[in-house]
Amino acid sequence: MPSRYDILFQPIQIGPVTAPNRFYQVPHCNGFGWRMPKGLADMRGMKAEGGWGVVCTEETEIHHTSDLSPFFEGHIWSDDDIPALQLMTEAVHKHGSLAGIELSYNGRDASNLYTRAVPFDLFSRGLVGGSGYEPGQSRAASKDDLKQIRKWHRAAAIRAKRAGFDIIYCYAAHNLTLAFHMLSKDNDRADEYGGSLENRTRFLRELIEDTKEAVGDTCAVAVRFAVDELLGADGIQHDGEARDIVSMLAELPDLWDVNISAWKNDSITSRFGKEGHQEKYISFVKGLTTKPVVGVGRYTSPDSMVSAIERGIMDLIGAARPSIADPFLPNKIKANKLEDIRECIGCNICVTGDTRFVPIRCTQNPTMGEEWRRDWHPELIAPKKSEDEILIVGAGPAGLEAARALGQRGYHVILTDKNREAGGRVDLESKLPNLTEWRRVIDWRLTQIQKIENIFFYPSSPMTAKDVLEAGAPHVILATGSTWRRDGLGRYHSRPIPGDAKIFTPDDLMSGNLPSGKVLIYDDDHYYMGGVLAELLAENGCEVTLVTPAQTISAWTEYTLEQERIYKWLLALNVTLLPHHALASFSPTVATVTHTITSAESTLPCDSIVLVTDRIPNDALYHELKPALAEGKLKSLRLIGDAEAPNIIAQAIFSGHLAAREFDEIIDPDITPFKVER
Ligand code: ADP
Ligand code: SF4
Repeated sequence: MPSRYDILFQPIQIGPVTAPNRFYQVPHCNGFGWRMPKGLADMRGMKAEGGWGVVCTEETEIHHTSDLSPFFEGHIWSDDDIPALQLMTEAVHKHGSLAGIELSYNGRDASNLYTRAVPFDLFSRGLVGGSGYEPGQSRAASKDDLKQIRKWHRAAAIRAKRAGFDIIYCYAAHNLTLAFHMLSKDNDRADEYGGSLENRTRFLRELIEDTKEAVGDTCAVAVRFAVDELLGADGIQHDGEARDIVSMLAELPDLWDVNISAWKNDSITSRFGKEGHQEKYISFVKGLTTKPVVGVGRYTSPDSMVSAIERGIMDLIGAARPSIADPFLPNKIKANKLEDIRECIGCNICVTGDTRFVPIRCTQNPTMGEEWRRDWHPELIAPKKSEDEILIVGAGPAGLEAARALGQRGYHVILTDKNREAGGRVDLESKLPNLTEWRRVIDWRLTQIQKIENIFFYPSSPMTAKDVLEAGAPHVILATGSTWRRDGLGRYHSRPIPGDAKIFTPDDLMSGNLPSGKVLIYDDDHYYMGGVLAELLAENGCEVTLVTPAQTISAWTEYTLEQERIYKWLLALNVTLLPHHALASFSPTVATVTHTITSAESTLPCDSIVLVTDRIPNDALYHELKPALAEGKLKSLRLIGDAEAPNIIAQAIFSGHLAAREFDEIIDPDITPFKVER
C-alpha cells in the first residue's frame, strides 16, 4: 500500500554509488574508535540491519601527525588499519547499505599526545585538542607540508576504497580539521592559501579534487562542511561566506553533508534546541548545488523527515542520535510501526562515550555499545526459560525497562508503583524547565508494555514486604528508586552540614514545594539537577545563588556539551554563580561558605537552602525481604536501578534491561560478563 513515507525509501544516487533509501547515519564518535574495532563494527552493522541506507565511521585520522588521543577515533594511518575497517564495511554491506568514511586531518585540534608528532596548522598556534588547553603549539604548515598532507589524504582515500568504503569524506566542520581552519577569515597566510576567500578555499578544493581523482571512479566523494559557527561575524555564517564557499565548490563533491559548528551546536541537547533546529542555517545549500544534500536535526518524526525533503531542505535525512536511540527507526517507518520508534530524548549521554573515552551508551537504547561484547540486539531478546511469574516493584525507568524486556521474553510480569503515574524520577524531572522530551523514556516503555499481554501494570499500589509475599510471585525485582539527601552528605561532606534553616531537596521542588525569597542552592551533584533547579527558581522569582565545590557549575555537563550554555543561561537569569565554594553551615537567615582552596569563609544572606548532594537508595523493602529469600519463600530477589546505586537515568534503564536479560540465567560473579577486546 502506498504511504506518505514512501519518499523516504527512494534510492538516491550519490556520484557512482546509490543509497538504497534516504536514511543516512552521518559520521559520529562513539568511544570505540580504533581501539575496539569489533564492538564498533557490530554497532554500525546494527544500524544497517535496522534500515539506515548509509552508515558512516567517526572522524578517521589519516596520518599519525593528526592524532586525537586521548579520544578514540578511527585510524587509517597505514595499510595495517585496513582489516579493522573492513570489519565495519562488511557488517554494513551485509545488509545492503553503503559505508562512508570521514577522513580527517586535524590541525591544532590534534594534540598528538600518543604519537608525539608535531601538529600542523595555518600558523604556529596553541593546541586545543584533548583538554582544550594543551600546552604546546602547532607548526605553520609550509606549502611543501600542505603538498605532503594532500598526499597523505590521497593515500588514505585509496586505502579506504580498498577497505570497502563507498563514500569518502573530505571533512571541514566542527571547528576541526586543517581544511576547516583554512577557511577562517583569520587565515591571513601570505601565500595562495590565505587572504582571499578563493585562497582560503583552495586547500579544501584540492582535497576534493585529489580524492575524486584517486577514488572517484567507484566511490562517492562527500564534503562535510559547517555552514555556521554561531559566532556572528567572527566565524563562518550561513548568510555570509558559507554561501560563497558552497557556490565555489557546488558541483565538485558528489554529496554535501552540511551542519553547524562547533559540536555543541551541531549536537545541541533537547534542553536548548528542538527537532529541525539546523534547518534555518542549512536550507540555502540545496539552492546552490544539484548534488544531494544531507543534514541533521535530531529528526525522529517521519512527518518532519518527509517535510524536510518536500520543503527542499535536504535530500537525505542525516542522523547520529536518532540512529543511536533506535537503530531500527527506518524499518519501523517502513513497517508502519511508528509507535514503536524509540525516540531520542536529546540528553547527549551518547556523547559521553567519546568525551569520557569509553564505548558509547544511550539513555533510550540500553543495547547501544553492547552489540558485540554482550551480543545484545535492540529488537530481539531470548525467549523465556520458565513459566515463573515476576513481580516488579517500582515503575521508574529501571522497573519499566525490566518489565518491558521480561514481558518481551514472554514472562508473566506484574509491575506495581505506589504513584498514580508511571515513570518515577523521569515523570518528575521531565516537568522541570526544558526537559519535556525526557518523557519519551516513559512513553515508549508504556506503549510497549500496553501491547504486551503478559505484563500487568498496577499503579497506585504501594507495596510492603507483606504485600509482596502475599502477591505470591516467586521472583521479585525491586526498582524502588532513591531519595535526595536532606543532610548535605556527598562528595565533599562526609558528615551532615550543621545548622538550622529551611532545607529543601530536589524531591521537594519536583513535587511542587518551592522556596521563595533568597535561595542558596548547594550543588555537590555536578550534573544537570543543580543548574535546572536554579533555572526553575529564578523563573519563579527567587533570588538564587548557586554554590558548588567544583571548579565550575554543572561541571559534568561539559561531557554532554551543555556546560557553556547552562552557564550563560543562568547568568542571563541573574543567578549568582559561586564555584569553588562548599557550604559549611547555615542558620535561618545566613549561610556560611568556605573557599575550597583557600579555606576563606564568607557569609551569604538566605531564606532557604536547596541541597543537591547525594541520594539515599530506597532499599528498605529489599532488606525486609531478604529473610524470605533465605527461607525459600522467594526464588530470587534483585535490587536494580537507583535503589541499588543511584546514578543517571541511562544507568537505571541499563540496570533494568540487564536484570531482564539475566533472568533465569546462572551468573558466575567471578567471570567478566562480556567479551573484552584485547
Ligand atoms: P529508578 O531510576 O531506579 O527507576 P525511580 O526513583 O525513578 O528509580 O523510580 C522508583 C519508583 O518506585 C517510583 O515510581 C516510586 O513511586 C516506586 N516505589 C518506590 N517504593 C515503592 C513501593 N514500596 N511500592 C510501590 N512502588 C514503589
Ligand atoms: Fe538520544 Fe540521549 Fe540516546 Fe544520545 S543518549 S541517542 S541523546 S537518547
